[in-house]
Amino acid sequence: MNRAVLGGLPVDLLTPETVRERIGQWLARPERSYQVVTLNALMVMAAEKHPELKRAIATADLVVIDGIGISRALRRGGVFPPPRYRGVDLVRDLLAHASWVNRSVYFYGASRPVLDRLRAIAVERWPGIRIAGMWDGYRPEDARSDILAKRPDILLAALGTPRQELFLASVLKELPGTVGIGVGGSFDVLAGMKQEAPLLLQAAGMEWLFRMVREPGRCRKLPELAQFWVRYVLLSGKEKSDG
Ligand code: UDP
Repeated sequence: MNRAVLGGLPVDLLTPETVRERIGQWLARPERSYQVVTLNALMVMAAEKHPELKRAIATADLVVIDGIGISRALRRGGVFPPPRYRGVDLVRDLLAHASWVNRSVYFYGASRPVLDRLRAIAVERWPGIRIAGMWDGYRPEDARSDILAKRPDILLAALGTPRQELFLASVLKELPGTVGIGVGGSFDVLAGMKQEAPLLLQAAGMEWLFRMVREPGRCRKLPELAQFWVRYVLLSGKEKSDG
């Protein structure tokens, strides 16, 4: 598999098309469970502080380039990355695929109103989609047992990092045949509760700026984001010497 290393974490150098193909193969002939990570700069920084997150990413079956920071950092390290695949786009594509091949989906995370909207939109947009279950991310006590009982083909966890990655790493051990993906704030966007950044900002890889303006609370993450850019993008070639 074509993998690079960034901050000690694996990054798969696969085009969105190849990512879809690979997940499609897993869904068609599952041999075990699979974990997919949608990697962005803040996750790389978080992994430095959380050894368990680092382990979950290191052992994931697929680490997809979600954020522009990852692409830029790879380039600085001398690796030519494939086009990035935003988590929200991956979720959209996967829901379309799931309805096409009749695979079930479980939505875990975000608030109850978001989930209700998401279900209504998904059923309308992808007729025939099989929703195995839904559990909001604000009363996590019984989520695990519900998910284990429903045994979905696809488990989407939208709890934020590192919670979603750690939850998936743990629960997938008991869910052979399931593909689990950490999808951050994707449910809010798909449910239409949060606006996506304008295309121009997306193209410039500046969604983070849009999100910070819309949700000023996110500004607390700015120092970490800046640290990532300084270390992995501005200080060119640093990653190579990191190994
Ligand atoms: N969330 C949740 N439970 C919590 C905190 C957050 O379900 O206790 C949800 C939140 O509603 C949002 C998602 O987690 O839909 C993650 O959002 P965010 O964009 O903050 O993800 P991150 O950028 O941290 O990966």
